[in-house]
Amino acid sequence: MAYRVAVCVKPVPDPNYYGHVGIDPVKKTITRAGVPNIFNPADKNALEAALRLREPGSGYAAAISMSPPEGAEILREALAMGADEAYLLCDRAFAGADTLATSYALCQGLRKIESEKGLPFDFIFCGAESADGATAQVSSQLGEWFGYPQLWNVFSLEERGGVFMLKTKLENGCMEWEAKPPMVLGVARELNKPRFISAMGVVKSRKKPLVTWGRSDLPGADDGYLGLAGSPTKAGDIFTPDIRREGRRLSGSPDEIVAGMLSVIRASGAAAGV
Ligand SMILES: Cc1cc2nc3c(=O)[nH]c(=O)nc-3n(C[C@H](O)[C@H](O)[C@H](O)COP(=O)(O)OP(=O)(O)OC[C@H]3O[C@@H](n4cnc5c(N)ncnc54)[C@H](O)[C@@H]3O)c2cc1C
Repeated sequence: MAYRVAVCVKPVPDPNYYGHVGIDPVKKTITRAGVPNIFNPADKNALEAALRLREPGSGYAAAISMSPPEGAEILREALAMGADEAYLLCDRAFAGADTLATSYALCQGLRKIESEKGLPFDFIFCGAESADGATAQVSSQLGEWFGYPQLWNVFSLEERGGVFMLKTKLENGCMEWEAKPPMVLGVARELNKPRFISAMGVVKSRKKPLVTWGRSDLPGADDGYLGLAGSPTKAGDIFTPDIRREGRRLSGSPDEIVAGMLSVIRASGAAAGV
């Protein structure tokens, strides 16, 4: 059976440029000027899962992102990987969103796609968490907005005659579930191995639709739930911890070095009884 699947894709800062990410001491916001984005890693696993559920020609896979205009590059990558269409929610009205306002905007965008296509999604996929915010809240919140069953940290997904057998990771084990669509899933990176993007995929992606929607394209949305105004959580203070480290080189035989280390630890009071 071919399914209609949506995938939420978040552009996150390239870890190679973490040294350039700063904190605005006045506005208490993260500054990312000049920092390139990459595809949030777990979202590639989410897209891979979506593409496996969509049969070519009969199913449908859409990627959606809420981000500044640069997010379009990541959506182009999603199209090259195999998504059929991509949607960018981009407007100052969406800026400053906490997780709840982010999930609300994504829900509004997904609802609009459903109404334009005349059919609901069977699956809405997210990564289990983003590589930057990493709150792991957005997929569960989407489940609540839609009123669908939702599972988080999914690392196994198998179809048996229209019923899905799923496994979710816990801290000390795992749980097995049986579910029928529609559902919202936050997937772990262990779920699958995302496919490589082929040159043909890049060529084909140029003809696929990448649609940008602003606030006026979501007329049914409530401003009270969007952006900064719709965010019940506010960052109080944000700072870099002042961690000072002192290096000391110990020399001598291995026994002398160990004795020296022990005396340094005892003198610091860090380990009573050592
Ligand atoms: C108190 C607070 C204040 C904040 N203020 C700001 C602010 O002023 N400006 C700012 O830019 N950010 C701000 N953020 C960060 C912003 O809320 C998060 O980027 C966003 O809500 C997603 O949270 P997350 O990254 O923790 O998602 P997670 O829940 O960890 O992500 C799980 C999955 O949800 C999906 N997802 C998450 N975000 C998106 C998205 N935008 N588009 C598509 N899919 C997505 C992806 O599939 C992702 O893998 C703030 C966060 C908090 C908690």
